[in-house]
Amino acid sequence: MLHEIIESARSRLGERLLILGHHYQREDVIVHADLVGDSFQLSSIAAEQSAPNRHTTSKSNFAHNQIDNSNFADKNFAKKNCETIIFCGVHFMAETADILANSSENLERRGGERVNVILPDLGAGCSMADMASRESVSKCWDELATIIDIDEVLPITYVNSTAELKAFCGERGGVACTSSNARAVIEWALSKKRRILFFPDQHLGRNTALKMGIPISEMTTWKDGKPEFGGNDIDVIRRSRVLLWDGFCCVHQKFLPGHIDEIRSILPNVKVIVHPECNQEVVAKADEAGSTAYILKRITESPDESVWAVGTESRFVERIAKQNPSKKIVHLAFQPSYCSTMGLITLENLAAMFDPIEKNKPINIIKVEESVAKNALIALQRMLQIT
Ligand code: SF4
Repeated sequence: MLHEIIESARSRLGERLLILGHHYQREDVIVHADLVGDSFQLSSIAAEQSAPNRHTTSKSNFAHNQIDNSNFADKNFAKKNCETIIFCGVHFMAETADILANSSENLERRGGERVNVILPDLGAGCSMADMASRESVSKCWDELATIIDIDEVLPITYVNSTAELKAFCGERGGVACTSSNARAVIEWALSKKRRILFFPDQHLGRNTALKMGIPISEMTTWKDGKPEFGGNDIDVIRRSRVLLWDGFCCVHQKFLPGHIDEIRSILPNVKVIVHPECNQEVVAKADEAGSTAYILKRITESPDESVWAVGTESRFVERIAKQNPSKKIVHLAFQPSYCSTMGLITLENLAAMFDPIEKNKPINIIKVEESVAKNALIALQRMLQIT
């Protein structure tokens, strides 16, 4: 019944509505998404939304689960005439979509008309993003300035962060990144400045820097709340090129090196692939590490009868397994590891968004304050340019 309600409202709204779904979203919700992707892909699509044409309609995509990347190459789709985006993801993703879809350039093209970005459950946050506030990062920045030349530091925020922190980076010549382009962004940053301050995810920062050949002796972790330079000796900070915030993703911290040993003893032909939000030991032991888009591509393009153990969010793993029946695909930790906040978006709260939209009284709108959005956009546009 809810599926029918959603699909009939979608066909009435036509091209005026775009539904974006993150790979970690529930299956019954994701079937209604026009596009499914990771943060980088979904941000790019939000940035592409242009002048609305209120009289066009589109065909329903229900039951067309766009798990591959092919839709993202379809520029005609990306230029869809959009007035509203429903974001089936978490809060920082909706903020990012609002900033990009309502950039001054896009607003000018649309004669000042905003695209409303809607999050079906306003409680759908991200525990990692909550681990770094503008206040705490500013405090760290100010403390660093007392012991090193702060003009030699470039701030980088993982896109899994608040708009306030993206604005912090934009104001200081810094940049945002996703797990897809973290290496390119860090390389770019270190070609401009001697050091980086990377937040909130220590693991993505550390794993990427190690892959670039930066030794662990040139990195340190700033522990929020610890007195005396985030719990660091001054000399350690002075010799570090990579300063990492101590945030993490609880979903990816469930994977342990022992899981890799165990799965290899059970499935000798297994290839282990993990997300770089996993800890350093897990990434070092795995056969491969990469973003969700990378994991999807590697498994999809692997030969029939390949065997994979995947260390990332479990709804995504289950979906890849369903899409690749000729391959054996298992959870790395044996037990599923779901992102609980992504799971807050349900068929019920998705369906509840449509009636207000059709009555021109949309609810659950995520709107980033203008001065924050302006500076956050600088960091996000740099992110989209560096691939
Ligand atoms: S999987 Fe981790 S980083 Fe991603 S939204 Fe959930 S808690 Fe945040």
